[in-house]
Amino acid sequence: MEGEALRLDGNAIAGTLGEVFVHEMTAARIACKGCGNVEPVGAEHAYVQAPGIVLRCRNCDAALLVMTRTDGRHRISFPQSHWLEMDEPGDSRIEPRTTALNRSGPTPNLDVAPDQSF
Ligand SMILES: [Zn+2]
Repeated sequence: MEGEALRLDGNAIAGTLGEVFVHEMTAARIACKGCGNVEPVGAEHAYVQAPGIVLRCRNCDAALLVMTRTDGRHRISFPQSHWLEMDEPGDSRIEPRTTALNRSGPTPNLDVAPDQSF
């Protein structure tokens, strides 16, 4: 009962995760070793009242992520998670490729159109 009173959802640790990771981490998916469940970080159970932060599986209560901060350093462990997965950043990686495709598309059309009209 006391544990439930202290429990928040994973969105409660967004600020601390944001200090370490450049991605929006509450949308990142984390895989539990205990039960195999895969959920967004924001959907898991967060306990922030301890000296550190503990993120537990909402399904089996396994400790997925533990974050502590001491002497100006963050330490993160993943005691009972298989992996943490996040999408690649959309702006920095996809946009240059899209821009290159867009540039190659219109350019031949502009070159071809005058030749076809003559
Ligand atoms: Zn689990």
